[in-house]
Amino acid sequence: MTRILFLDQSGKPGGAELCLVDIAKPYRDNCLVGLFADGTFKQLLEKQHIPVQVLATKAIEVRKESSLAQGLGSVKQLLPLINRVATLSRDYDLIYANTQKALVVGAIASFLSRRPLVYHLHDILSLDHFSATNRRIAVTLANRAALVIANSQASQDAFIAAGGRKDIVEFVYNGFDLALYQQPATDLKQQLGIDKDRFLVGHFSRLSPWKGQHILLEALTSCPENVTALLVGEALFGEQDYVQQLHAQVTELKLENRVKFLGFRDDVNSLMAACNLVTHTSTVAEPFGRVIVEAMLCGTPVVATQAGGAQELIESGKTGWLVTPGDAMDLAAAINNCIAQPEQSAKMAQAANLQAIQRFDVAAINKQIAQLLSKLVKT
Ligand code: UDP
Repeated sequence: MTRILFLDQSGKPGGAELCLVDIAKPYRDNCLVGLFADGTFKQLLEKQHIPVQVLATKAIEVRKESSLAQGLGSVKQLLPLINRVATLSRDYDLIYANTQKALVVGAIASFLSRRPLVYHLHDILSLDHFSATNRRIAVTLANRAALVIANSQASQDAFIAAGGRKDIVEFVYNGFDLALYQQPATDLKQQLGIDKDRFLVGHFSRLSPWKGQHILLEALTSCPENVTALLVGEALFGEQDYVQQLHAQVTELKLENRVKFLGFRDDVNSLMAACNLVTHTSTVAEPFGRVIVEAMLCGTPVVATQAGGAQELIESGKTGWLVTPGDAMDLAAAINNCIAQPEQSAKMAQAANLQAIQRFDVAAINKQIAQLLSKLVKT
């Protein structure tokens, strides 16, 4: 079996990290996950018996949108980490970088140790998400990889449009452990102290301006009084101002009785199953959108914004709804439509569920990845 040194810059579990857990699991006897920060992500890997080590002695700035140029500017600071990775990688067949800073470290280490580099691209390299300089650096380094795995067609297209090599990129969707979504429903509404006749709209994402939680709050004001929103997730990359802004917006719009902030939860699937509708409100293109697939697997109707990877997951009107990014009125109309047409919504959720089971089974996705990786390793 291929021996892999995985690298990830984050100590906290965002979508890229949760995806890595599923990818690393089959390699748990032959891999190491090297992190650049300590935190709950490490515990999550340990819980799954995946070998993990925090490699950076000093915390590296992990704000997701922070400057890669700064990262490169401090290559000198990164040298001990790069050397450590280069040395470690000699015991593995390949280096698998899962985030942008992991790419910087992994690319240089792979040059030193002559181990092939794989880069899992979880971002849309567009100017909405990255500065021109950061994008150039990311593409230049990624072009040195033996393989780039983009998490959607949209991420692949943006990579190529930014100058990425067509001949090394393949897109592979995130996989999901289907068994986790077949649990019996629990009465979470009651546990959360929410009346059972309330229409529960769930939002599952780190709190960050481009994830658009503020759009959902605004939309609530155009929905019936019994529509209640659950905001699940916390600010993972230091966006505390936005968190305060959301709380202020709740007060200003007098939504105190209609909005619950639950913070980060590790029981997303049970919460989603308790929701009447899941909303995904990213204001710019989402690279993939794990929560959309998770809602489908839970059998809950889902509405998402029409951009990026979400468009590859939802066929609007058949397996969910797509609405205009940043448009609260359009979102409110979709919520109201779901309330008004419960039978049609249930049918749509069922169709989405069947499709998601076929398209996103982690066993099939991991097979796809294993095949791609095996081509890189000389036997
Ligand atoms: N998530 C979670 N707990 C929370 C909020 C989110 O486990 O409180 C998970 C969510 O279920 C999803 C992931 O975090 O699997 C977010 O992935 P997504 O692709 O939606 O966004 P990203 O974080 O990659 O931008």
